[in-house]
Amino acid sequence: MVSNRGDDKANVSRIIELMEQQSPPHHFEFSDPFWVLITTIMSHRTKDEVTDKAARGLYERYHDCNGLSKAEYDDVLTIINKVGFKTVKAARVIEAAKYLKNKYNCQVPRSIEELTEIKGVGRKTANVVLSDGFGIPAIAVDTHVQRISTRIGWSDSSDPDVTEMKLRSLIPEKLWLGLNPMMVEFGKKICRPVGPKCEQCNISEYCKFFKTQKKKKDEMKKSQTGKN
Ligand code: SF4
Repeated sequence: MVSNRGDDKANVSRIIELMEQQSPPHHFEFSDPFWVLITTIMSHRTKDEVTDKAARGLYERYHDCNGLSKAEYDDVLTIINKVGFKTVKAARVIEAAKYLKNKYNCQVPRSIEELTEIKGVGRKTANVVLSDGFGIPAIAVDTHVQRISTRIGWSDSSDPDVTEMKLRSLIPEKLWLGLNPMMVEFGKKICRPVGPKCEQCNISEYCKFFKTQKKKKDEMKKSQTGKN
C-alpha cells in the first residue's frame, strides 16, 4: 500500500514540489551576505516589507559593514523606527558590524559556528545568511517553516533547532536551497498561522493536521447522527 504520510521520506520531494506550485515568488531585498545578515537580524517579529524598508534605509546611509560599524545609535534608531524591538535591534546591527570589522575585516564568515558567535545571531539567521547570501545549502527554520513542518508531521518539536535537524535528515540536500523562502510564501498564502486554507491546499492528503481535523469532524458528524 502506498503511504500518504507527510513524514515518509518517499513523499517529501513530492510535497515540496506541490507546495512550490502554490507559493508566489519570494522578494529578496539583498543578496549581499552582509546586508542579508543585517536584514535578518531585524526581521524577528516584523513584517517583511517593514524590515526590507529599514534595511534599505541603512544601506543607503551607511553602504557597508565599515560604514555601519561607525554609525550613531540614535541615527540607526531613527532609520529603523518602524521595526519591532527597534532599540535592541539598533544596538545589535551596529554591534554586528563592529564585530565583523574587528574580527573578520568586514568579511562575513561562511560557517554556522562563526556566524552564531555574533551577538543576536542564532541558527535561523546564520542559515539564512548561508543560503540567501552565499548559496550554501542550509535550512532556516523561522515561524513559517516551524508551523508548516509541525502541521505536516515533519517535526513534533516546537524548538526550531530540533526541527531544523529533523528537516535536514528528512529532506534531500539538493532541495535545501530556496526551501525557506518558498515555505515562507506558502505560509503566508495557504498554511496561514490562523485559518489555514486546507481546502485549497495541494498537500492536504499528506498533512497530519488536516487528517486529524478531518477525523474529528467525521466523528462529530457520526455522533450527531447517532450512527456507528
Ligand atoms: S492541509 Fe492545511 S494545515 Fe496542512 S499544510 Fe495545507 S494548509 Fe497547512
